Amino acid sequence: MVTKYPVYTPDVTREDVAAATAVVASGHISGSSGPSIEEFESTFARYCGCEYGVAVNSGTAALHLAAIIVGVQPGSDVLVSALTNIATANAIVQCGGRVIPVDSDPETWNLDAHLLHSVATPKTVAVVPVHIYGHPADMPSIRAFARTKSLTVIEDAAEAHGARISGRRVGGMSHVGCFSFYSNKVITTGEGGMLTTNDADIADRARSLRNLAFGYPRFLHREIGFNYRMSNVAAAIGLSQLRRIDRTISAKRALAARYTIRLSGIPYLQLPVELDGYHNIYWMYCVVLRQPAPTSRGRLIAHLSSRGIETRTMFCPLNLQPALLARGLVSTESCPVAENLWANGLYLPSTPSLTDSDLDYICDTIREVLC
Ligand SMILES: *Cc1c(COP(=O)(O)O)cnc(C)c1O
Repeated sequence: MVTKYPVYTPDVTREDVAAATAVVASGHISGSSGPSIEEFESTFARYCGCEYGVAVNSGTAALHLAAIIVGVQPGSDVLVSALTNIATANAIVQCGGRVIPVDSDPETWNLDAHLLHSVATPKTVAVVPVHIYGHPADMPSIRAFARTKSLTVIEDAAEAHGARISGRRVGGMSHVGCFSFYSNKVITTGEGGMLTTNDADIADRARSLRNLAFGYPRFLHREIGFNYRMSNVAAAIGLSQLRRIDRTISAKRALAARYTIRLSGIPYLQLPVELDGYHNIYWMYCVVLRQPAPTSRGRLIAHLSSRGIETRTMFCPLNLQPALLARGLVSTESCPVAENLWANGLYLPSTPSLTDSDLDYICDTIREVLC
């Protein structure tokens, strides 16, 4: 059967197209000149409650620059949420560092801050919490831990634009925040990312490193930089998307609420939560099959697929990643909670424009094998 309900379809409006077209017509199409990049940076930074934004060409590039700038190097250990996109770990290992995965909280699926003390090593230099699937990590506890050990904190906020703790938005709760604007993220520029920070030195260094570390006089380079520039065309799309981010997030939250109403009667499913004082933006709506269940996750996925409903498994935890294990780049302590999410979790179609009857169909199809 053809996929009738993909996991996600990006929201690209006529306004986005017009914004991109205008920039192309202006000739300011690269990342070196033109007004859209600076405006996107300052507007997005302000949205996050931050002083500075530095636009780059992916979330991965943002994480890589952040890891370099906070001083991750050969001999460094970095505490990272076990359950995350591989990009979070790649940023560390590409600086020569080693990843120490921190297992997930069973309710929020974020880095479990209670474990930080027991997994930290004398070589630990930084902590990278990921605000997974749109629910902020426990930043107050993570920051308190980092302060006692003099560690830097990098937020991987690639899935959580606009998510909040006690009214404060993610990306501005640590030394540096990293966002992605990939096509399935909360707002998109096609490909893109941004660092957010209140530290002028971090922002300056990121601006330099993203642009080949041009020095003075021009063409004299004192550092090995990268071309991680965002194009003006991408920035113009991002600005246009940013204008409606509040509506986008409301629609995501409304979709999650409608799913939760329909699925909460099924005993074999664990649903996403929103802790008191937290504002979850529900980037993707994930469910976890509670074992023993009447069917396996594989059969549930196959059944949904046979009805045109696409799903995706949750992330494979970092302690099980072959590329890291083969090179000794990750500590091998098991992460039982994250491993269970990898074995039993999946995300459901999460495009906010799904109608009530679409949701009835999806949830009834789940019920056919779980009730
Ligand atoms: C998407 C994502 C990234 C990578 O962002 P790209 O823009 O695809 O490079 C990093 N971390 C997390 C948690 C993500 O979801």
